[in-house]
Amino acid sequence: MNGGNGSELQAFCDSSRRFLQPFWDCVRNQEALTESPFFLVIFGITTYVVFCLPFVVLDVLYPWVPALRRYKIHPNFSPTVGQLLPCLWQTLYQHVLFVFPVTLLHWASSPDPLPTEAPELLELVCHVVVCLLLFDAEFFVWHVLHHKVPWLYQNFHKVHHRNSASFALATQYMSVWELFSLGFFDMLNVKLLGCHPLTVLVFHVVNIWLSVEDHSGYDFPWSTHRLVPFGWYGGVAHHDLHHSHFTCNFAPYFTHWDKLLGTLRPALAKFLCAC
Ligand SMILES: [Zn+2]
Ligand SMILES: [Zn+2]
Repeated sequence: MNGGNGSELQAFCDSSRRFLQPFWDCVRNQEALTESPFFLVIFGITTYVVFCLPFVVLDVLYPWVPALRRYKIHPNFSPTVGQLLPCLWQTLYQHVLFVFPVTLLHWASSPDPLPTEAPELLELVCHVVVCLLLFDAEFFVWHVLHHKVPWLYQNFHKVHHRNSASFALATQYMSVWELFSLGFFDMLNVKLLGCHPLTVLVFHVVNIWLSVEDHSGYDFPWSTHRLVPFGWYGGVAHHDLHHSHFTCNFAPYFTHWDKLLGTLRPALAKFLCAC
C-alpha cells in the first residue's frame, strides 16, 4: 500500500517535472542571453515596462473611452506626459546606475551552471507563494517603520508618495534605498528557500506584475484581489487607499498583517461612498 502510494507520488513528481521541462530547456538554450552580465537588469526593466505598457495605453485612451470610467479608481485623474516621463526616466537611470552594478556582482559571484532538470510544478507554485508571503511580511515591517519614523519617511519613502493618485509607471518611482530594500527582500527569500532558477524568474515576474497592478489605478473584475477569496488579498484597491491616506494598508499584497495590527482600511466602503 505504502509502496503503491510512493510510486504514485513519484509518477506525479515526474509528470509535473516533465510539464515544465520543455519551457526550462527553452530558457537554457538561450545561454548567450541568460549567462550575460546584462541579463538580470534587462529582464527586470523589460518585464516592468511590458507590464506597465497596457495601463499607459489605457491612460492615453481614457478620455475617449467612457466605458473605462467604471474601472478607474480616481475617475477624474489621468496621468500627464509630464508625470509619466519622469517616472520612466527615474526607473531607467536607477537601473543603469545602481541596479546594474549590483546584478553584475551577483553574476560574477554565481558561476554555477544552470541545472538541467526543471523544478516540479507543485514545488514551483509553493515556493512562489511562500516567497510572496515572506516578501509581503518584510515589506510590511519596512513600510510601517518608514511611515512611523519621520526621518525615514522624509529621506527615503516620501518620494514614492509624490503621486497621491497612482498610475502604473509610478510603481518604481522611489528612492534608491527603497528600490534596494525591495530588491534585497526579493533576492533574500529565493535564497532562503533554495529556489530553482526557473522559480526565481517566475517569482520576479509575479512580483513585478503584482506591484504594477497595485499602482495601476484600475480595479478590473479580474484584478488579483477579486480572484483571491475571503478578502485575503488587498491589491490595487487597498494600496490606492494607502497612497491617499498614508496611515493604513501598509502590506503591499495580503491583508493579514494590517488586520492583525489594526491598520487595515477596507476598500469596499470607499467605493460605496464614491458611488
Ligand atoms: Zn505604492
Ligand atoms: Zn507608504
